Amino acid sequence: MQGLMQHGALTVDKIIDHAAQWHGAREVVTRSVEGPIVRTTYAAIHARAKRVSNALLALGIKPGDRVGTLAWNTGRHMEAWYGIMGIGAVCHTLNPRLFPEQIAWIANHAGDRVIFVDLTFLPIITGVLQHLPSVEHVVLFTDRDHMPADFRPTGETPNFKGLLCFEDLVEQHHADCAWGGFDEGTAAGLCYTSGTTGDPKGVLYSHRSNVLHTLITLQPDVMGLSQKDVILPVVPMFHANAWGVAFSAPGTGAKMVMPGAKMDGASIFELLDGEGVTFSAAVPTVWQMLLQHLKETGAKLPVLKKVVIGGAACPEHIIRAFHDDYDVEVVHAWGMTETSPVGTLSVMTDELEKLPYDQQMPYRLKQGRPPLGVELKLTDDAGRRLPHDGKSFGNLKIKGPIIAAEYFRGAGGRILDDEGFFDTGDVATIDDHGFMQITDRAKDVVKSGGEWISTIDIENIALGHPKAAMTAVIGVPHPKWDERPILLVKPKDGETATKEEFLDFLHGKIAKWWTPDDVVFVDDIPLGATGKIDKKLIRQRMKDYVLP
Ligand code: ADP
Repeated sequence: MQGLMQHGALTVDKIIDHAAQWHGAREVVTRSVEGPIVRTTYAAIHARAKRVSNALLALGIKPGDRVGTLAWNTGRHMEAWYGIMGIGAVCHTLNPRLFPEQIAWIANHAGDRVIFVDLTFLPIITGVLQHLPSVEHVVLFTDRDHMPADFRPTGETPNFKGLLCFEDLVEQHHADCAWGGFDEGTAAGLCYTSGTTGDPKGVLYSHRSNVLHTLITLQPDVMGLSQKDVILPVVPMFHANAWGVAFSAPGTGAKMVMPGAKMDGASIFELLDGEGVTFSAAVPTVWQMLLQHLKETGAKLPVLKKVVIGGAACPEHIIRAFHDDYDVEVVHAWGMTETSPVGTLSVMTDELEKLPYDQQMPYRLKQGRPPLGVELKLTDDAGRRLPHDGKSFGNLKIKGPIIAAEYFRGAGGRILDDEGFFDTGDVATIDDHGFMQITDRAKDVVKSGGEWISTIDIENIALGHPKAAMTAVIGVPHPKWDERPILLVKPKDGETATKEEFLDFLHGKIAKWWTPDDVVFVDDIPLGATGKIDKKLIRQRMKDYVLP
């Protein structure tokens, strides 16, 4: 028997419709790429997004066509985002931090027909357009005054019809456009994984998965957003939909503060302080820069209540500094492009919250528990489930309506197991409180004598050494044990340290057989395009290294 309730397709245009109708005057503030802070509202974003839709229709964009964006978090980016998705086209957020060749590879694989670009990234597009036969138009996210006098792409571009000005398009088209009316399974967004494991692969979000993800993130034990909040997503819209904030903020009517191109400590502080931000989300490196700035200036954060930190393991000193010095709650979260991205969050349970803060810390450092809508399992290599005892390491697998079922154009083949779970490629434990902890990426874990060593654990502990600015652990070949870990340390400016100092520091904090066989001091620990340590590059740089 069928239920007798209305169906109402779950499409994302309804999110911005709601924001415009019920929170129309709520502000979206942007540090514009041109420089000044600019203010708009959800009502204006909604109207201008409709104009963008009409402009795209006039350019011949049809449902299912991919429209790229190469842009920072700004109000204009939101307008393009909803304008693209509203007409059933696919908003493909390109990551500008990738190398130009990678951007070209991805835009080609996606078959983008139009690309919206920030002024900052015009040189990238100018250089790669010759390799993008599918791209017919580039729209520059700016006004007429900032349009380049002369735009000439490098090389031959036979299909390219021209560079357009965003503000001109908005002005030239009317705000009357019907959105939605398609199936909720229709593709809405496309985001490629950064390719730290082989070629980048496209995750094709649907309207339904985005709306469900929005509802999931609004649970109090996930992001718990309210219309009273002021939200600063430092995490870019090209990094898994700004972790859903580009949907959840208008979904609640929270004020948004968009950082544009500037993510250094001083710039982020200026927005946090000046706009009364209560909630923010970013990778650990951003918070490291902010905390450094606060320390140098003695500034405080009286309004900020909560920060979500994820994308990479959050070091203890960040959680402590926010708690002890600024009274800000850190929610450590784990997720992937493939998971929309929210997977787990380290929100304390009622039982754990009653413990003294120091005893909560081991749980706060873990990646946490899944919300309603996400299923997790831990298996060995044969696919057998492992116990939730906090010790057994296994492959972390995830299932649910916000998790990828396959990649765009079938890349990577079949990605679900027989029970419909996606293998995350992460190695984890789950304890008896249900807290999941990432111990490593499957490809980074060090396999020593048939046992696994977590590189992340050692890195994080070593990072607690006062002389360490950055740390990384990789496995190197060993004749007897197959692989052994070595620790790379980038010392803080002006510091010198010895191998023994670091090994003594680790002593007693990790199992003896986990102790790195060597400590190598380096000038640089490379980060990839989403701010994570690029171990592939480190392994490449260390390929001629031999253990002492
Ligand atoms: P990519 O694989 O392209 O870097 P993602 O940004 O989707 O793309 O990265 C997802 C991966 O990032 C996860 O599989 C996990 O390895 C890592 N990760 C994300 N959040 C955390 C976290 N809180 N702690 C440790 N690792 C994390």
